[in-house]
Amino acid sequence: MKIYREGDKSKAVCERDGLTTTTFALRDVPFDDGKGVAPNILVAVCDKCGEVVATPPQSTPAIKAAYDRASVSIEANLPSIYTDALDLAAYRIDPSLTTEFRKPLLMYYINRYAADPDLSRQLVESFLETKALFEETQKIGRGSAKRRLSMKITPTMSRDLEAVVAITALNKTDVIKSMIGCIHKDIIAPDRPKGLKTLRMLAAIAS
Ligand SMILES: [Zn+2]
Repeated sequence: MKIYREGDKSKAVCERDGLTTTTFALRDVPFDDGKGVAPNILVAVCDKCGEVVATPPQSTPAIKAAYDRASVSIEANLPSIYTDALDLAAYRIDPSLTTEFRKPLLMYYINRYAADPDLSRQLVESFLETKALFEETQKIGRGSAKRRLSMKITPTMSRDLEAVVAITALNKTDVIKSMIGCIHKDIIAPDRPKGLKTLRMLAAIAS
């Protein structure tokens, strides 16, 4: 791959002018969803009309970083056993982790499920199982305390969560509950936690 610099020449197809020569320059680039711009991005500009006609791969991380700077809040009011399960899973991955690891752990799971619709479809069952397992004792008046799980996530993570919501038809809170159920099943319940090597790597990067 080639690294481009300001002032470099290239060729690209312009919507207006067809195949044209271009010059690399810094411009503000609108996001794909139209919600804002990434400032000062190196792009190929059409020499005839001055429009941005191509974005070199080296500019992609900067555009993504600008896009992810706008954070999305998610809030869920959960029986405290759910956050306790997240914290116990974190403890099992690495005893030095704190409650800060709730977000990376949840997002890692949401990302995995969002990428696999077949896997996501199993979440409805997981939601019902988890609810039965975790909320059973509430009927006899135990474990009714709730805790607020409040996280700022990136628009990219938010899109993953929306994807799982769309596949499962569960609301966001119930997706989070079912995800914690999967975490329980993988990490807390078994004698030997599943995917421990990867999770320890995630912990090393996230903390
Ligand atoms: Zn043009």
